[in-house]
Amino acid sequence: MKPRYLTKTRFKLASECPRKLFYCADEKTYPNTKKENDFLLALAEGGHQVGALAQCYFPDGHVVSTLDYDEAVAQTNELLRRNDVVIYEAAIRHGDFFIRIDVLVKRGNDIELIEVKAKSYAPAETAFANKRNPAMINKDWLPYLDDVAFQTWVTRQARPEWQVRPFLMLVDKSQTADVDGLHQLFRISRGSGRTEVVLTAVPTAERVGRHLLARVDVLAEVENLLAGGAVDAAKDPLNARPISQRAEQYAAIYRCGDRFDADLGPRCKKCEYRASDAELAEGKLSGYLECWREHRGPEFDHHQPHIFDIWNARNLDSWLDEGVYRMEDVPASDLNDRQTLQVEVTLGRRGESEVIAPQLFAEMRQWQFPLHFVDFETIMPAIPFHAGMHPYQNLAFQFSCHHLDADGRLTHDQWLSADAGAFPNWDFLVELRKSLSDSGTIFRYAAHENTILNHLKAQLHSGCRPVPASFDVADYSNWIDRVTKDGDRAMVDMCQLVRDYYYHARMRGSNSIKAVLPAVLEASKRLEDAYAKPLAFGTNLRGFTLWQRDGDMGAVKDPYKLLPPLFADIDPDVIEFLDAEDEIREGGAAMTAWARMQFCEMSPEERRAISEGLLRYCELDTLAMVMIYQHWESQC
Ligand code: SF4
Repeated sequence: MKPRYLTKTRFKLASECPRKLFYCADEKTYPNTKKENDFLLALAEGGHQVGALAQCYFPDGHVVSTLDYDEAVAQTNELLRRNDVVIYEAAIRHGDFFIRIDVLVKRGNDIELIEVKAKSYAPAETAFANKRNPAMINKDWLPYLDDVAFQTWVTRQARPEWQVRPFLMLVDKSQTADVDGLHQLFRISRGSGRTEVVLTAVPTAERVGRHLLARVDVLAEVENLLAGGAVDAAKDPLNARPISQRAEQYAAIYRCGDRFDADLGPRCKKCEYRASDAELAEGKLSGYLECWREHRGPEFDHHQPHIFDIWNARNLDSWLDEGVYRMEDVPASDLNDRQTLQVEVTLGRRGESEVIAPQLFAEMRQWQFPLHFVDFETIMPAIPFHAGMHPYQNLAFQFSCHHLDADGRLTHDQWLSADAGAFPNWDFLVELRKSLSDSGTIFRYAAHENTILNHLKAQLHSGCRPVPASFDVADYSNWIDRVTKDGDRAMVDMCQLVRDYYYHARMRGSNSIKAVLPAVLEASKRLEDAYAKPLAFGTNLRGFTLWQRDGDMGAVKDPYKLLPPLFADIDPDVIEFLDAEDEIREGGAAMTAWARMQFCEMSPEERRAISEGLLRYCELDTLAMVMIYQHWESQC
């Protein structure tokens, strides 16, 4: 039988909940909803490119690339016979533990253990310690430091004669790139089922330019975690223990296939070991359901309204402590107005599935035609694409805008920068301003568009990129002030209007546009009449029928699922995972598609197919806003 090693990934999983080790050992039986895809994550988060950039900073290193555990350990041990050596992906095994160290620098018995993360770091601002209790580690940094502490412990066990000093290598957002197209040095390839980064040129000092990754000594934090003093035992008793106790226990659980009896808690809300009804019908099992039935009895029904469905619930801990998990058992006094509305609609106490507060109609009377509905797609690359830019500075590569006149005439504009390597932000502003004209009310959905315009304004003033002579910085800056928060043409946030005035049972506590769109389509006869036939207008959606019912009596289908997937070669569920943010649509799928055009070798046909997909999805984002408006207007 193959040995069951506790790796970095499994240690992290067990730190979230030790019971997950049982489910992860048998994912054919227990499906995992985190349909992570290494290739897409490489594009979305930039982890692989940052890892490859880190290697450029340690020239003459040796890579251990084999996936076979025994071979990897043998190759590493051979390299470790040298007095001075740098190894990428060094494989260390000790008993039940197996780790790969991103970069291991050996000088005699002095070892630098370097974990590389695509995580933003600002030397003057970032603090690893908790602000209120400096002896504890800040919860945002805990998973990263815990990971490097685990690796340090395993390495010290395997090689007690070594002096191991741990480091995190992080993306230093205070730095500025001094070369153009650094990202084009790294091409992502999906060769032989594995995501790899291929260098397109020799990474000389001139080509790589100024160092953008900071090597941060984390010995003090790691020693604190090793000793068990860095996590509040009252809040998280399992992870407050010394690393040795945790690692030995998790390794034993995983080796023996134990069903660790974990307490239910707020973390269960995001548990990935859930099976859909279709998967249950196929005979698969739901880890989530098993945990809840063990603790709450066999009658636990995951279809019943649950406290986890309540929007923005802050009392999950105390409700669970009191044994409350059904929505119907939550004390009314614990709920705010929005939550009360949701609970009452969901439980049928209002006698209606949709509620619109009359204040919405008063707001609508203030709006001026033409109405402009706008949506941006943007990316914050870890490795700047252009000289003069910091890591994680925004690039705005696409927008869609629908315009609705008082007579009901609907028109559509769009803009997409599909040119790999071009700096898009100034053209984006020029085209957007033209599209929004000088009159009419502008709508956004959530805060993203406001945030981006303010970032672009800061970029204009920073001089990070040359501005064309024809571009009047002061004029554009004033225009941004006018259309952003508090300006005289400030964009109206439709998501805030939903939060304040609109609820439908089908939204299930979410205010994201992807939850609201199917809800208004379900509720509206006007939308059924307009969209249950092929669209006779639009730019990329012409001919699509966006109102479709699932069978004769089923629910109205989600229009996003009626479009061809953004990537023909990737499971749509995996793509959906990229957008799985509650309330604020992050545009993760669009960002990833655009990143694919920048980081992958592709034919003109593939590039065209991705561009067309991006244009379709962005157009649907703004048409969705129009549909929400049309439904509200029909209820006035
Ligand atoms: S449902 Fe909760 S207890 Fe069960 S595995 Fe998931 S997180 Fe752990």
